[in-house]
Amino acid sequence: MKSGDDLSAQLRRIDGKGYKAYNDIQGSYNFRDYSLHLDHVQADPFAAPSRVRVQVDQRKAGFPASSYRSKSREIALRDYLTREFSQACRKYFRGNRGTGNSGVICIDLPGQEILERSSFFVTDSQVEARFTMGLPAYGRRIAGKQAESMFFEELPRIIYASLFFKDLDHEELVRHVETSEDADYLREKLAELGLVAFVAQGAVLPRESGIELRPLNKGRVVAFEPPESFNVEIELPNRGKITGMGIPRGVTLIVGGGYHGKSTLLHALELGVYNHVPGDGREFVITDPLAVKIRAEDGRSISKVDISPFITNLPFGKDTVGFSSEDASGSTSQAANTIEALEVGAQVLLIDEDTSATNFMIRDHRMQELVSKEQEPITPFIDKIQQLYKEKGVSTILVIGGSGDYFDVADHVICMVEYRPQDVTGRAREIAEKYRAERKAEGGEGFGDITARIPIADSLDPSRGRRPVKISAKGRETILFGRHLIELQAVEQLVDPSQTKAIGDAIHFAAKIMDGSRALAEIITEVLAEIAEGGLDVLNPRPMGDYAVFRGLELAAAINRLRSLRVKHV
Ligand code: ADP
Ligand code: MG
Repeated sequence: MKSGDDLSAQLRRIDGKGYKAYNDIQGSYNFRDYSLHLDHVQADPFAAPSRVRVQVDQRKAGFPASSYRSKSREIALRDYLTREFSQACRKYFRGNRGTGNSGVICIDLPGQEILERSSFFVTDSQVEARFTMGLPAYGRRIAGKQAESMFFEELPRIIYASLFFKDLDHEELVRHVETSEDADYLREKLAELGLVAFVAQGAVLPRESGIELRPLNKGRVVAFEPPESFNVEIELPNRGKITGMGIPRGVTLIVGGGYHGKSTLLHALELGVYNHVPGDGREFVITDPLAVKIRAEDGRSISKVDISPFITNLPFGKDTVGFSSEDASGSTSQAANTIEALEVGAQVLLIDEDTSATNFMIRDHRMQELVSKEQEPITPFIDKIQQLYKEKGVSTILVIGGSGDYFDVADHVICMVEYRPQDVTGRAREIAEKYRAERKAEGGEGFGDITARIPIADSLDPSRGRRPVKISAKGRETILFGRHLIELQAVEQLVDPSQTKAIGDAIHFAAKIMDGSRALAEIITEVLAEIAEGGLDVLNPRPMGDYAVFRGLELAAAINRLRSLRVKHV
């Protein structure tokens, strides 16, 4: 392997030359305490910055085995180190060093969630960071001196600030790892306790704003206070005893006046499938890992989904056992979103009236009188919600301030009053008895079957122009897959652009194991198993630093939104 001196000699040699000459520095270099790997050199100062890795021998890095001994701890530690590295990048940034991205050193930046990422790795033998560097130039002329000071001044400072255990804040590191481990423990315990979610006493749910995801801390913030009857106490491995509101399996309504915090609670539950950083306020808001937000999403494409449990007898005999659409309506999109989630194993549905199609949710007595069942293709969710639970074991948490008809089908009713939940299950039952809803149940004998679908591999074509594979993610919400745009705005539990990027490549990976006989659910399971086994690196022959782990539910959601997708039924 070449040495650091070789790198500095190279940089001097190419100083002032055309940008292409940077290709000469690709390769690996040995420094005293670490090795540096320039995996990919950018084509020009405006292109995506160059990809770099640094490795430190664990004997020098000195991380105690306890800090990464379980998968849970390992993921949290890698997340923590990514944050430290990122902070050091900002701290030691010495300003732009020329044109375009010149001078920028950057690592994938985590948000409030703790996710497994490909930006950092910790094993018994070494610690590895993956990041990018904007190799500096003035116009297209290499700024060799600037590059030298990036590699020999900034970068070492960043490395010594984040890859060596002795120089880190041990207390903070341990808190990060232990908090995340407690959250994982709690999530695993939910099933045993008969719960689908848990919200700790004292949790802070509201955010600064719709785009600023840190906890709200101006004005009056009401910390979460569980109603007595929902109180559950759990002993966590690190933190010890905590109490909170346990939401049992079954059908739970969240009711209450407008602006009293219903959607904020549901939103926290949606994100409770992930762990959160200490100080987030939602560290112990924990949801079943297979909980899915279901909403209306008009305009999306749908490929042969059996939505017949909800919708039959469409005008002109349109098929609803294999329902396809290029431009779904509110109700058909919500039906498809529900069935597709069930198809890949959803265990809990999270629904907010704010983002639902009214005609999918309810059909009251008067409407039943005016428009007969024969003329209404939709069987509303209210008539399916208990069948889902009793026959398929799928629970629902539903925010609904607008329809008391749901009292008839609820197992638990929580009322938000000025951001404080109250148990009103008894009251709701009394009211349901006293004012009988005269509507007729329309759900029929049973929920109906979930028809498995087999995706056809060549309908997932990643090619564009002359390139056989062209896949890129644009932020959290879009994937460019070959010639197709996959829109994920409505897939609300996707939280990080690096998840989106990984999903884009995972679709291609999934297509390679589609053989015309395996159902979508099976394929998703296999992709997740491969990632669990070989890490996110299985998605790309090159070491990428900006992947984050995603759930099978979101991978399926992306595949289902690919407009070219074709499937056949099992
Ligand atoms: P709803 O869905 O019941 O209409 P929201 O959940 O949208 O109400 O909340 C309304 C507003 O109250 C939001 O701006 C939200 O940030 C704020 N809010 C929610 N929960 C709390 C809380 N616990 N303390 C302070 N403000 C809150
Ligand atoms: Mg709301």
